[in-house]
Amino acid sequence: MNKVWSVEDVRKLLHETGEKAGFPCTDVSVEISKRMEKTMGSFLFKSKDGKIIPHAFRFSHVLLSGYYDETVVRNVIIHEYAHYYVNVKDNRNHMHDDYFKKTCESFGIPSHTYFKELLPRIKRKGYILVCSKCGSQVAARRKIDAVKNIVEMKVSGCCHAKIRYRSSVF
Ligand SMILES: [Zn+2]
Ligand SMILES: [Zn+2]
Repeated sequence: MNKVWSVEDVRKLLHETGEKAGFPCTDVSVEISKRMEKTMGSFLFKSKDGKIIPHAFRFSHVLLSGYYDETVVRNVIIHEYAHYYVNVKDNRNHMHDDYFKKTCESFGIPSHTYFKELLPRIKRKGYILVCSKCGSQVAARRKIDAVKNIVEMKVSGCCHAKIRYRSSVF
């Protein structure tokens, strides 16, 4: 088990990084999201009248839950700070451009964005759609409404037969 991070821990690292960079982020709130499954962190902002207005840093609950090595967590947090730094300072959304990457390096973190791949795959309920004639899988959907639509409106590509479905976890 690795270190479990509290919101305070995250704030502390963000503030330390801001101090070091000479561009504090003390006024930007920090949020933890349980629903974030596809990204580990994000820096939220609005773009208004040619200005970038910071809104919040948001981190995935799973990132902070002790699942990851401390270095990974630090890298993600500083990565999001780097987004804040380049975008707010420059009033421009740099995304992951060269300037952003150089900034990451100057903060001592990797410039690539591998964080997505590190996320554990969370299995959830859904439906597998199969061809009623040959049984091969036609599609997979999470929502029953989408499933019913397909079953009513479409036929399988393989046999042009009716499509059936069963529930599954994937
Ligand atoms: Zn990023
Ligand atoms: Zn078929």
